[in-house]
Amino acid sequence: MKVLVINSGSSSLKYQLYDMTDESVLAKGLVERIGMDSSILTHKPTGKEEVTEVSEILEHNTAIRKVIEKLTDKTHGVLESVSEINAVGHRVVHGGEFFKESAIVDQQAKKDIRALIDLAPLHNPAAIMGIDASEVNMPGVPQVVVFDTAFHQTMPEKAYLYAIPRVLYNKYKVRRYGFHGTSHYYVSHAAADFLGKPLEDLKVITAHIGNGGSLTAVQGGISVDTSMGMTPLEGLMMGTRSGDLDPAIVPYVMNKEELTVSEVNLMLNKHSGLQAISGISSDMREITDGLEKGDPHSTLAFEMYEYRLRKYIGSYAAAMNGVDVLVFTAGVGENSAIVRKSVCENLSYLGVEIDEELNKVRSGDPRRISTPNSKVEVLVVPTNEELVIARDTYKLINK
Ligand code: AMP
Repeated sequence: MKVLVINSGSSSLKYQLYDMTDESVLAKGLVERIGMDSSILTHKPTGKEEVTEVSEILEHNTAIRKVIEKLTDKTHGVLESVSEINAVGHRVVHGGEFFKESAIVDQQAKKDIRALIDLAPLHNPAAIMGIDASEVNMPGVPQVVVFDTAFHQTMPEKAYLYAIPRVLYNKYKVRRYGFHGTSHYYVSHAAADFLGKPLEDLKVITAHIGNGGSLTAVQGGISVDTSMGMTPLEGLMMGTRSGDLDPAIVPYVMNKEELTVSEVNLMLNKHSGLQAISGISSDMREITDGLEKGDPHSTLAFEMYEYRLRKYIGSYAAAMNGVDVLVFTAGVGENSAIVRKSVCENLSYLGVEIDEELNKVRSGDPRRISTPNSKVEVLVVPTNEELVIARDTYKLINK
């Protein structure tokens, strides 16, 4: 039973082929610069050499065809024929209120994903392109959609509504949805497994901090609050995104600078966050380099990032009236010992105590970084959103 997982962006397409008998990855890869000149396909078959091919790939249909060519190639391939692919699982960013869980793709599902384009104008059209292209290239193969928002559909009204006129929710579905749900789902379950305790009995805070970042309060095994909102802009300070700010700033700045809606969106999504404060980079590696060299702008960017993250952790401990487990994941969470240390040092009031040596260990496996005395288990759990997509796809088509 083989499942192809596809994560389709507007100009890129990532893929992973799983053998679900043992959940092993047979091959993975990436097509970049779709629709531009010199598109690049990088294909990594497990146990064989990586190949890179530059060609003209104008749309997703060609991208998927090329991926299938590579997967079935005599030298670099891992399949005899495309017919060995039993199902395709797609990552879709926005499932709105339509999708509380993953779903088999049918006409209604596609209609619903299209209806949400308003809420995710950059992401949902790309997902549709990936689904259509898979249908063309793998006719008759069942397809499943897995949503970044689905895990957070359990949030109660008090957490997902904004304190603005109700009519905006009724008419336009303006509310908090949350994102990175597949990751928060995966790491909260993996953390409970690691600890050998039922997730239902734990109060867990999951910190998915990468280029984008979000925090989730998982109580009784479900998401009860999360820091991203109607869009992935709300919440933590991120690489290039502002995170929370006084909403009155938006009309004020638009007025003063004579900015259009798309210009102000660009400013808050692409020219804010670590990038804006450091003036150097959106990448935490460069920020911590700057911090170590005493660069004042990098130092401030780091301090703001850590301070805001810590305040959110405190607020989720308050939301759940306690916290048993704190999980770090994604690019920064998995790799930056200094971010974890700085955050945890200032959570002593919660009884958090981390072991500095354990915190420095690098590993691809879930691991504990707290001391035996710590009142909160602090874990680093590498995320694996693709595996969740493959598992959900497998589960749904075998139902
Ligand atoms: P992601 O979005 O999860 O792929 O995370 C990407 C981000 O992780 C990068 O932009 C970096 O800021 C951060 N990152 C990756 N490796 C490290 C590292 N060794 N130390 C600090 N940050 C890192």
